[in-house]
Amino acid sequence: MKQPLMMIETDTQLPSRLDVAVIGGGAAGVVTAYELSKLGKRVGVFEKGRIAAEQSSRNWGWCRTLGRDLRELGMARLSVRRWSELSAEIGADVGFRETGITFVTRSEAELAGWQEWFEFAQRCGVAAEMLSKEQANKVYAASGEPWIGGVRTFHDGYADPSCAIPLLARHAAAEGVAVLQNCAVNDLYFEAGRLAGIETERGMVRADCVVIAAGAWSSLFCLKQKIVLPTLNVYSSASKTRDAVQLPFQGPLKAPQFAVREKVGGGYILAKSGRGTVHIVPNSLRYGLRFKGLLASRRKNIALRLDGEFFRQLWDEIGYLYLGRSPFVKNRVLDPDPDMSLVRSAYEEAQRVFPGLGPDMLDYAWGGAIDNTPDGIPVVSACDKVPGVYLCTGFSGHGFSSSMGAGRMLAQLIARGQSSEDLQYLSHRRFLSGEKLEPNIIY
Ligand SMILES: Cc1cc2nc3c(=O)[nH]c(=O)nc-3n(C[C@H](O)[C@H](O)[C@H](O)COP(=O)(O)OP(=O)(O)OC[C@H]3O[C@@H](n4cnc5c(N)ncnc54)[C@H](O)[C@@H]3O)c2cc1C
Repeated sequence: MKQPLMMIETDTQLPSRLDVAVIGGGAAGVVTAYELSKLGKRVGVFEKGRIAAEQSSRNWGWCRTLGRDLRELGMARLSVRRWSELSAEIGADVGFRETGITFVTRSEAELAGWQEWFEFAQRCGVAAEMLSKEQANKVYAASGEPWIGGVRTFHDGYADPSCAIPLLARHAAAEGVAVLQNCAVNDLYFEAGRLAGIETERGMVRADCVVIAAGAWSSLFCLKQKIVLPTLNVYSSASKTRDAVQLPFQGPLKAPQFAVREKVGGGYILAKSGRGTVHIVPNSLRYGLRFKGLLASRRKNIALRLDGEFFRQLWDEIGYLYLGRSPFVKNRVLDPDPDMSLVRSAYEEAQRVFPGLGPDMLDYAWGGAIDNTPDGIPVVSACDKVPGVYLCTGFSGHGFSSSMGAGRMLAQLIARGQSSEDLQYLSHRRFLSGEKLEPNIIY
């Protein structure tokens, strides 16, 4: 069984003229389109497969400021606030629960990093606290060696990836956003050297601006436009436990080797924290050196693999760039298999801490491809090379939550020329200026 995803009915007719065309119907694209329409823009979202069928339904659902890179903490805070408002605003339950989020550890170095984050976050007004050894062991009573401490936020929580973005897309459509599924965008088109619209598999659509929010495909789309977008996809896995599992606490918990959170309706979402596989692909040769810092900081967690994926992607690129074939039509939904050894090991690690969570408690598992930038923060920005093009992508594993703020900020930038939050660190320019890109990852 795969993870469930709500299906929605959407438009079948291409709009003829838009202010803004959004490429990609994941969280980033749907939120940006919704926010643009609230600012009075005529918007369309073009999705090659189904709304949210890629990363935006395959994630753990965590909505957090906790541990977020300091350069994007403003966006993370805005995002969590937006999650807390969303169900009432659209009249449908997106599953947001304000449970708080907790990290616990047995590592002094990790705790010191959290302390640093906590001090900064407090100055930014994030409601959080450090947990003493006693507090951590009281609430998250575990077998084996005790925790030495932890950190917790109060207003973070989780939402339901199986329905949140489809529900928002349905609402946006009712408010006038054109939403098209099974409608891949293959190219941009230009008139007299100026952006004039998009070329979809069903025909042209005129638009003054275009937002590229194509997740794991953004970099390939950009390649054709000669836009530098250095991302690498990390293949990650997650699972749901059987409904019978009961843990003695509420809210998402990250422990050293696994992450777990309850699922409304029964069971838990369980995964190995921060683990995944990076296939060596053409983008590794193109942009690999820029990822030195990120790969060094996560070398224990990331497996590099050279296999058939290199040639599969190379073939897709050649077909796309030189032979007029669309990789987007060919791959309606990127649906990687889960890495079952990682999934099982999450259960083995979890069982050491919470004995009720053994591998026999696995219900089902799934895979997903996460688009990562070299510095682990997204691009929410005008594209520096092509006037009229904007980027809302590269969410590096936290875009389910962060798209909520990113989409609003980008919509403000497009519609009003400036955003309520600071976008300086999330610019596209940082990839072109030669500046050193370092992750600042606490988790
Ligand atoms: C296992 C896992 C766990 C995660 N856990 C969390 C978490 O707990 N919290 C969190 O905040 N984030 C989490 N994430 C990350 C989060 O899911 C992503 O950052 C976020 O969903 C990215 O949204 P997106 O819209 O940028 O990309 P996507 O959701 O991937 O959407 C991009 C869409 O663009 C479409 N598309 C691509 N090219 C084209 C084209 N040419 N024409 C038309 N459509 C196109 C694709 O079909 C796709 O639907 C997790 C991810 C995974 C895989």
